[in-house]
Amino acid sequence: MSLTQEVECDEAKKLLHSIAGYDINSKQTVVESNGVTVDNPKYLKAEKEKLTRLQRQVSRKKKGSARWKKAKSRLNQLHGSIARKRMDFAHKTARRIANASDIVVFEDLNVAGMQKFNGKMVADNIMGLISDLTKYKVELRGGVHHEIGRFERTTGVCSSCGQQHKLTLKERSFTCTSCGLLSDCDYSSAIAVERRDELDLMANGTVVRVANTLNTKQKLGVKTKVFALAKLPSGSEEIDKAAWPP
Ligand SMILES: [Zn+2]
Repeated sequence: MSLTQEVECDEAKKLLHSIAGYDINSKQTVVESNGVTVDNPKYLKAEKEKLTRLQRQVSRKKKGSARWKKAKSRLNQLHGSIARKRMDFAHKTARRIANASDIVVFEDLNVAGMQKFNGKMVADNIMGLISDLTKYKVELRGGVHHEIGRFERTTGVCSSCGQQHKLTLKERSFTCTSCGLLSDCDYSSAIAVERRDELDLMANGTVVRVANTLNTKQKLGVKTKVFALAKLPSGSEEIDKAAWPP
């Protein structure tokens, strides 16, 4: 059975007021460029351990036997429960991220995950799921979702001066060799994701920066940046009209 649902999509906003970059760290925590983090829920880890135990029990029993069937059924139930909780967590996190800003930027998570975790944890790439869900949620609001290029360097970039540093996986913070600022790795990486993407989006003409539209109080707010959406997605009459002013 398949279900199709049609949803009304807001017309693309012409003014976008905020941008935020998102990074993952080795604990698979969401790290936001404004300093907010979301921890991977502990129940998922506990249930994964239980899953491994049940899988071992199933494999030890004689295939097709009554004991095997019982263990197999418990395993299937747990699989279902993990899938539902994981989806629920991903939806809630994506909703929060999509509501927080008009432009949402992620690293290319498949590659980033491989680089950071060397395989093992990539199998359960919940951040990839969160990025996908965020994409449609933010676009429903008329915002922009973007993933930065695969090989952009964001780890070890100083959030103040942009100096790059080579870091080992164990290093969780670093002191900039150029300006001396002490940075947390994940937080500075999220900022680098945001900055990198801001430049990319402006370079390819998706957005243009609007200057002098903010009052002094707004300018003081770090997160407030105003962009005009320059390149609207083509294909719809209304949007085409909006792109061609008389
Ligand atoms: Zn620096």
